[in-house]
Amino acid sequence: MAVTRNMTIAQASRSFAGDFIVRRNAYNTLQKLCEIGTRFPGTPGETRAQDFIEQHLAESGYTVTREAFTHLAWRRGSASLKVTDPVSEVLDCISLAGSPSTPTGGVSGKILFLGNGTPADFEKHKDEIRGRIVVVTSLAPSSECSPPRECHRRTKYGRSVKYGAIAFLFMNSQPGMLPQAGSTRQNMAGEIPAVTIPYEHGERLKRLLAKGDVEVVLETENENYEHETCNIVADLPGEVSDEIVVVGSHYDSHDNAHGAVDNGSGVALNLEIARAVREASLKFRKTIRFVFFGVEEMASVGSSFFAVHHHHELDKLHLFLNLDGIGQQGGKTFDTQGFTDLAEYVTNAGREFGYPLPATRPSFAGDSLAFVRAGVPTAAMRNQKGYSFFGHAVTSSGEDRGWGHTSADTIDKVNPHVFDESALVAYLLLFKAANTKGPIAKYRTDEEALAVLYEHGMGPVLDVMKWPTIPVKAMR
Ligand SMILES: [Zn+2]
Repeated sequence: MAVTRNMTIAQASRSFAGDFIVRRNAYNTLQKLCEIGTRFPGTPGETRAQDFIEQHLAESGYTVTREAFTHLAWRRGSASLKVTDPVSEVLDCISLAGSPSTPTGGVSGKILFLGNGTPADFEKHKDEIRGRIVVVTSLAPSSECSPPRECHRRTKYGRSVKYGAIAFLFMNSQPGMLPQAGSTRQNMAGEIPAVTIPYEHGERLKRLLAKGDVEVVLETENENYEHETCNIVADLPGEVSDEIVVVGSHYDSHDNAHGAVDNGSGVALNLEIARAVREASLKFRKTIRFVFFGVEEMASVGSSFFAVHHHHELDKLHLFLNLDGIGQQGGKTFDTQGFTDLAEYVTNAGREFGYPLPATRPSFAGDSLAFVRAGVPTAAMRNQKGYSFFGHAVTSSGEDRGWGHTSADTIDKVNPHVFDESALVAYLLLFKAANTKGPIAKYRTDEEALAVLYEHGMGPVLDVMKWPTIPVKAMR
């Protein structure tokens, strides 16, 4: 069935999703993308992923633009963590991205375990942190972290720096001997060395601490360097050129991870939506801009540069639809990032279609944050527990990353049918949004954008994260 603008949203989405399910294009594309391996900025894998995306878009009939930017990249070297007292023992670790090198011989000191590193944990122990090596888990317990970014790794790192820690150990909260990668800062070198350790070795440190002081020596050798990379952009022109819907996904991964779910899944879905609408010769009112961001894993660098490059038309971006980590099992909804008018729009779209799209707590996570800061109405696809069209149960609590940022984020973790649900939900919002006349939600001025972030408790978080270092609204 050909999709036309006169169809109801339900008809259009079902037709589109049916095509997706039958052809299984997104999963096949993800398989090919994952053959590249890791896609970390500055590595051959990043270059191959860029070429893959460009070629796929060109084959679908798009004119492709690479929007270059230069950022502070990072090269991993060796890392070693040794307990020297009360026992002599070597623990597993790898550096967090952005971690500086230690002086030769490492830094040594007593460790201080701060649990999950919630704001309350730091507040309670802030006077004990100076001169210590802080250990926190990767967990962000939802009852204690509002907004969730209060318990993001970079916030925990920022607080450790602020209170005078000499090093930072980030412990996976989930068993399996896997270190969970992550970055320390945006576009600047971390101030103190930082490594990530598996759950089991964190637990070992906790058992030793129960008996008294524990001393460790941490030695890291890494390199920060200037690197040019790009966002990849392709437009499907609409009937009007000054109303734009951006569908975005970051294509980079960490250097220890294939990033099948985070975010090969979002890239594959984005590429296949781009192909499907073109193949069906669909015409929308608004222009649809398909964007593939670089360097998200180093604190949303590519999306921040996108906001800088497009500063002259931010108010023409009527929606940013963020597809990140969409290969995780579960029913889908959208996090509308504190845009209450957009939340209402999304809920109504769901009602029209017969797929409940409940509001979630604003996460201000990943590439969404740069757009929110730039005032652009933003909807990020997220899991929901309440409903799934295909009966997919949610397998993650949402308080940690599951396999994300570990070497286990591989294609075998992705259920092909997850794409069916994600494609259906993404398309229903895209179809409705791209055919809406005029704004979908109110574009925010700089003051309004900041006010909403502060209203949701993001003020202290942005401050301690030192985010953004890239002037998202430089040209105002
Ligand atoms: Zn991601």
